[in-house]
Amino acid sequence: MRSCAVHRRRGTETANVLGFARTREGQDVASFKAIVVDKSDSGQSAALTSFDDKDLMEGDVTFRVEWSTVNYKDGLAVTGKSPVVRRFPMIAGIDGAGTVETSSHPDWKPGDKVILNGWGCGETHLGNYAEKARVKGDWLVPLPAGMSTRDAMAIGTAGYTAMLAVLALERHGLKPDRGPIVVTGAAGGVGSVAVAILAKLGFHVIASTGRLNEADYLKKLGAAEIIARADLAGAPRPLAKERWAGGIDSVGSTPLANILSMTKYGGAVAACGLAAGMDLPTSVAPFILRAVSLLGIDSVMCPKSLRHDAWARLAVDLDRAKLADMTSEIGLPDVVEAGGRILEGTVRGRLVVRIG
Ligand code: NDP
Repeated sequence: MRSCAVHRRRGTETANVLGFARTREGQDVASFKAIVVDKSDSGQSAALTSFDDKDLMEGDVTFRVEWSTVNYKDGLAVTGKSPVVRRFPMIAGIDGAGTVETSSHPDWKPGDKVILNGWGCGETHLGNYAEKARVKGDWLVPLPAGMSTRDAMAIGTAGYTAMLAVLALERHGLKPDRGPIVVTGAAGGVGSVAVAILAKLGFHVIASTGRLNEADYLKKLGAAEIIARADLAGAPRPLAKERWAGGIDSVGSTPLANILSMTKYGGAVAACGLAAGMDLPTSVAPFILRAVSLLGIDSVMCPKSLRHDAWARLAVDLDRAKLADMTSEIGLPDVVEAGGRILEGTVRGRLVVRIG
């Protein structure tokens, strides 16, 4: 029989939920609540259950997760729509923020407030839809001063990725006087945060959305213009009329190809997502005839120093009132349903998950 903590516990425990469960053998087993993804002959499923402390994976820091969030990849993991989870049973949740309980890592001590994004959490390492997480201290980022753990998860990987994209455009030399920046998937998580940050930095933001009924929401975040998703859905031409100096794209596929063909000479597009598809039906024309650059953005294995830079900038360049406007709160039991909604593209802005 497969070694599975969740299954082993069924039939042996007499009580559970954060604290100690007494087994038939009379031993006390510490356990906590978690969204666990497991696999059986009938397929993959995710459910809120209890998880044994002793089954946590190796790590030099254990922290109490206070808040998490639902990103697109979390949706893939909890619905099983894509093979994101590569170890079973798996606690889902790529992001967490909370308070250190124990640490043998020199950078962290009990009581420290920390943020965790990516590094394979919820994929190959037990994740953050749980009251407890044990990870490598090197993966953690300190919570910026003046930011709550809830704010950090309202930002989450989606928001931190939006900031990585902004930093990439800045490294390319894009400034507001170079022209507008287009943001695709604008009403989604990455898109909403990107719109708010770029507007605060003084850029003229063109928000592309499939939900034109969210135009007021996007304008409140700082979009100067709204364009329909359909505007970027036609067959891409090698080069089209120059419309923007750059872009932040979270959808990939045909819309990204169209954005590239419409980018001004010397501009740049930061690509981070695939909500429309993983393909890229473009040509080399924008690169060799207009010196356009395509900048790749990865949040999962992003080096520590860049993460620190991104979080430091998020603390000052993302308006907290706008963050509050784009954030809805759910509880741990709601995560699986919310994962389905994010894949349908019907979640507006960001979802923050209350763990405790
Ligand atoms: P969301 O679901 O919150 O946002 C995605 C948005 O894309 C939707 O809200 C919708 O916006 C738009 N969209 C959805 N389906 C389509 C479609 N078929 N064609 C065009 N647009 C579509 O997800 P996130 O913002 O959390 O993530 C966005 C993408 O970025 C995902 O692919 C995710 O995997 C990726 N990502 C990558 C990271 C990295 O490290 N590279 C990190 C984080 C996310 P609207 O209704 O406004 O059009």
